[in-house]
Amino acid sequence: MNDRVFSLFNIAPTSPKWEDWKWQYAHRIRDVSELARVITLSPAEQSQIAQCLGSFRMAITPYFATLMDPDDPNDPLRRQAVPSIRETEVQPWEMSDPLNEEGDSPVENIVHRYPDRALFLVTRHCAMYCRYCIRKRHVGEEDYAISADARDQAIDYIARTPAIRDVLVSGGDPLTLPDKDLEEILARLRAIEHVEVIRIGTRVPSVLPMRITPELLSMLRKYHPLWINAQFNHPAELTERACQACTDIVDAGIPLGNQSVLLKGINDNAETMRELLLKLVKTRVRPYYLYQCDLCEGSNHFRTRVEVGTEIIKDLTGNISGYAIPRFVIDAPGGGGKVPVDPNYLISIDDELVEMVNYQGRRFTYPQSE
Ligand SMILES: *Cc1c(COP(=O)(O)O)cnc(C)c1O
Ligand code: SF4
Repeated sequence: MNDRVFSLFNIAPTSPKWEDWKWQYAHRIRDVSELARVITLSPAEQSQIAQCLGSFRMAITPYFATLMDPDDPNDPLRRQAVPSIRETEVQPWEMSDPLNEEGDSPVENIVHRYPDRALFLVTRHCAMYCRYCIRKRHVGEEDYAISADARDQAIDYIARTPAIRDVLVSGGDPLTLPDKDLEEILARLRAIEHVEVIRIGTRVPSVLPMRITPELLSMLRKYHPLWINAQFNHPAELTERACQACTDIVDAGIPLGNQSVLLKGINDNAETMRELLLKLVKTRVRPYYLYQCDLCEGSNHFRTRVEVGTEIIKDLTGNISGYAIPRFVIDAPGGGGKVPVDPNYLISIDDELVEMVNYQGRRFTYPQSE
């Protein structure tokens, strides 16, 4: 626990303000001078961070800041939140919109890539800005909310597109919106007959768990069937407070999934991943996807080789419960959607026989039906 955070804000850990998400949100660490008071930074590091903020803003909730090691630049939580000068090294293969979401956007703030589901980007704000963010182009520098008019047009697109039965409310982070704004969006989506399922993608349980208030949950449960996907990348994010937020969500009858990003030096080994996944399951959170890091600008220092991910999945398969294992996917550059890149257990398959290998590497055969 990094106590320097409490001195920065001159607040006791037991203060009721600490539990107030609006206080947390308003007091996010957004500039270098504040950051230098909670983690140890040389003048050179401070000027490098300032340089990074010119292309992608920083915001760290006081809560998350307490979890960062003040003296270790390689701390896995700190690296997700604190800019590194390597972000400014943009590689030739990196793109501002690596998944070509703009190309699958029939109206502003909607990405309609798969037949029966659409992504609805309802805000550009996040509680914390993840340094490897794939939507830097959206959540990047500008602090603007989506206009009421743009929101109406996006909802209108969903309403006049009967193929959409699943709407993914994302952003930015939808849970940075005030309850009443979020409720307006959910109510209007729920009123559309063909929208069967509403999903919310959020990083709030990990970076601002106080946001999961009883008021928020009693509002959300009016719009069932509603699912939430969180984003935990490292077991240290699953603090007692964060687990409480997850438990509260699940107790409201909301199935809670988790999407992680495979990040070099943060969670790119089977031991860390195993701890993360087992802790999620213990908290009743179902691991959903593990993403290979996308080719967004300035992400090279976070990217692993793809085999690292398939090896992790291979190491875990058979050794821990099937429902603790997420699907490892690459979101295909240029807009092909998510492609599973599973380890291969099939050796050969013909008219008579299937040859396969199990999790221990032992070979088996299975006869085909006639
Ligand atoms: C990930 C994603 C979805 C949802 O995909 P699922 O596999 O159903 O979780 C929908 N639209 C877009 C554009 C996406 O990137
Ligand atoms: S919460 Fe999501 S959208 Fe926001 S900065 Fe992190 S990865 Fe990007």
